[in-house]
Amino acid sequence: MKARVNENCIGCGLCVSTCPQVFEMTDEGVAKAMEGTLPTDVAGAALDAQSGCPVGAIEIE
Ligand code: SF4
Repeated sequence: MKARVNENCIGCGLCVSTCPQVFEMTDEGVAKAMEGTLPTDVAGAALDAQSGCPVGAIEIE
């Protein structure tokens, strides 16, 4: 699985709180996901972050 934050992000910070292993805030005030394949031990938290995003900005495939 890989994660990506799209242009809908409003920078609320929820994903960073839910899954700091994968998501971080950029200097532009939006979230960014780690590059590459997600470690299996954080996949569940990443999916939780995706579910919690208020604007559907997190894509996981
Ligand atoms: S939860 Fe969604 S809107 Fe909020 S910072 Fe993360 S990607 Fe952006």
